Amino acid sequence: MPTPIRSGAEYIESLRGRGLRVFLQGEFIAEPVDHPVIRPAINAVAETYDLALRDPALATAISPLTGERVNRFVHLATSPAELVMQNKMQRRLGQLTGTCFQRCVGMDAFHALHSVTCEIDAAHGTGYHRRLLDFLGLVQRGNLVVGGAMTDAKGDRSKAPHQQADADVFVHVVRRDDSGIWIRGAKAHQTGCINSHWMLVMPTMRLTAADRDFAIAAAVPVEAPGITYLYGRQSCDSRAMEGGIDAGNERFAGQEAMVLFEDVFIPHQRVFMDGEHEFAAPLVDRFTGYHRRSYVCKTGVGDVLIGAAAAAAEANGVEGAGHIRDKLVEMTHLNETIYATGIAASHQATPMASGVQQADEMLANVCKHHVTKLPYEIGRLAQDLAGGLVATMPAAADLDHPEVGPLLRKYLVARADIPAEERMRILRLIENMTMGRNAVGYLTESLHGAGSPQAQRIQIGRAMEIGFKKELARALAGITRGEPPATPADPDDYMGRVFRPLEDDGPRSQE
Ligand code: SF4
Ligand code: FE
Repeated sequence: MPTPIRSGAEYIESLRGRGLRVFLQGEFIAEPVDHPVIRPAINAVAETYDLALRDPALATAISPLTGERVNRFVHLATSPAELVMQNKMQRRLGQLTGTCFQRCVGMDAFHALHSVTCEIDAAHGTGYHRRLLDFLGLVQRGNLVVGGAMTDAKGDRSKAPHQQADADVFVHVVRRDDSGIWIRGAKAHQTGCINSHWMLVMPTMRLTAADRDFAIAAAVPVEAPGITYLYGRQSCDSRAMEGGIDAGNERFAGQEAMVLFEDVFIPHQRVFMDGEHEFAAPLVDRFTGYHRRSYVCKTGVGDVLIGAAAAAAEANGVEGAGHIRDKLVEMTHLNETIYATGIAASHQATPMASGVQQADEMLANVCKHHVTKLPYEIGRLAQDLAGGLVATMPAAADLDHPEVGPLLRKYLVARADIPAEERMRILRLIENMTMGRNAVGYLTESLHGAGSPQAQRIQIGRAMEIGFKKELARALAGITRGEPPATPADPDDYMGRVFRPLEDDGPRSQE
């Protein structure tokens, strides 16, 4: 029985000596844990462990599977209240790290696979659900980090996987035997993959019978032979090599990498879908139903940025000005709008036959769609309040120069009681979050992570029930057409989402 990882420090030690094949800027990185560019991303995941120690009510739960208290990131939510708790934990971690803490993808993938494997088993007589629970038990007992590997390289976007000139642009099975399967292909921009212990590989889109070999879901250890990681560059990431004030956020960063699978073996015991192509779309839709409301993580990051903007205004001596306060109110309004829709998606969850709760698809998509826009406006307002110095400030090293240092300290002071260095640190943090390294986590990931804006518009369009809404309007306008009124495609689901009774909201887990 593995000893569970308890603290952030133990987690960091668990990543050592794994022999991963990682490349960064054209160099092989023998030990990612000690690399100055990579370590801040590891620190961000470590916070998910330390938060659980400091605040178990927020970041742990009792697992019905093991009967033990486990980290909430490896716990399956069996009530809407538990989904809401995930969101609260995500916001807190965003506040603590100011970046992407990477552990939500695996959490959301487990939830989606829980109901989908149950349904595949019912349709095909397979044994995937039991395998998934066995794997989840291993993850819970070890308190492991599981990344979710969904987005394929994709090749020509107008073609299905089997039509691509090079089939490897989508991960697929290249060989099967009695022991297992071998997969090949590439997953792009994989959050936290090098900081994980396992990856859950999943299909990225709706598939047809011709794409059978691409319909694959499986768990693979990150150190499995045949896997290569190409570390994603981030704007200003080399500031981490310098450290200090200019890094903006010295301790924490996100992590994205391209993952190459070159005939990677996976035993059958870790395979949760192999060829059941008709379940690829439900798996993707359910995963996004969870992951698009997980993006309330950005409201925690937004809290940091709003605080930084207020501190910059304070250093300038203008925090009390009416227009400054109004901008802080606007930033808060935008931030809370994201939070409201995300938490509502969790609150309006639907119980699935497998026992897991499925977050509301419409509200999750609305949440993520807000996230593609509102952090950009919050970031714009933060830069507005920071002033142009956020982009023109001399280097921190100049502060220590015997000739120019004293002059820089003199001229960087705005309000006399706030030292130049303090003002500089806040401006570097705003730079880090809006155009530096953690702008990847706060802005670009907000735009493209968990699906680019159009992906949400498609799902919102699919579920918006325009026919039903037209009937509502016609009924009130006194228009009758002599035909029965349109109802939603699935009235129970639609009305359930809008009118779900409050007694459904209490926790149902063993807690
Ligand atoms: Fe979690 Fe947010 Fe990072 Fe996704 S972007 S892994 S939801 S912190
Ligand atoms: Fe993400």
